[in-house]
Amino acid sequence: MSYSPYLLKGQKALVTGASSGIGEGIARSLASAGAAVVVNYHSQAQEAQKIVDDIKAANGEAFAIQADVSNEDEVKAMFSQTLKHFGTIDILVNNAGVQKDAPFVDMSLNQWNTVIGINLTGQFLCAREAAKEFLRRGVQPQISSAAGKIIYISSVHEVIPWAGHVNYAASKGGINMLMKSIAQELAPHKIRVNSIAPGAIKTPINKSAWDTPQAEAKLLELIPAKRVGNVEDIAKAAVWLASDESDYVNGTTLFVDGGMTLYPGFADNG
Ligand code: NAP
Repeated sequence: MSYSPYLLKGQKALVTGASSGIGEGIARSLASAGAAVVVNYHSQAQEAQKIVDDIKAANGEAFAIQADVSNEDEVKAMFSQTLKHFGTIDILVNNAGVQKDAPFVDMSLNQWNTVIGINLTGQFLCAREAAKEFLRRGVQPQISSAAGKIIYISSVHEVIPWAGHVNYAASKGGINMLMKSIAQELAPHKIRVNSIAPGAIKTPINKSAWDTPQAEAKLLELIPAKRVGNVEDIAKAAVWLASDESDYVNGTTLFVDGGMTLYPGFADNG
């Protein structure tokens, strides 16, 4: 996928969980659209550095920062480092997320707290630090008509209940109201806050759901478009939401799911 390198020219972006999957795809795409990018990672330092090296080899600007998004001190340190290096920030993509699945009655408090901590609290902490800088700096019309953009990577499970994954579904349902409430509060300051809700996208987080023909066939029953998504499907939406092309879009969730939220089970039932 190639983008106009002028679309996000001069903009500084931070993508959480950018060492793998959807975050990696978004970091690479924002860079090819002209943004300088912080590649945040938690455990995969080498993968993060490889993404940085690839971006630089294509004449882009990037560097990697290790931080656990559920840890307030580490998030603050990551933003200080970003501002020190880039001077400011224009785009935050709140992408880092994990699954710790268990039947409800067997789910430990640790499994619950880990998923809520990374998927929801982490997204709160990063958004708060980004918003402080957006408010301090305000609009720079030559860079963007917005003072800043925050993009949440939510999930179809912000609306589809998910047995065996109640911590994950609760975290994504929480993101919906977190995103909308922040959008409402910050819109007068020309800050735009939106979510992308992916359906099934081929990444390591859900490998067992698509890595055998039998598993993929079962998954496709849930997808009217009859294909599993790829990271570029999400990255294209993220570039658009980060750009002034979506200037009048605020407080909304863009479902990029091949129709998964269309209740496909009802297509031939009633
Ligand atoms: P992935 O390939 O497993 O990537 C997860 C990323 O999150 C990795 O870069 C990981 O970093 C990072 N991460 C994990 N814990 C972290 C922490 N404490 N602090 C900072 N970063 C952390 O999964 P993915 O599929 O790309 O998922 C990305 C997002 O999309 C998640 O929010 C997920 O819920 C959402 N999503 C995915 C799908 C799908 O079908 N794939 C569907 C809907 C929503 P390290 O590897 O460096 O530790």
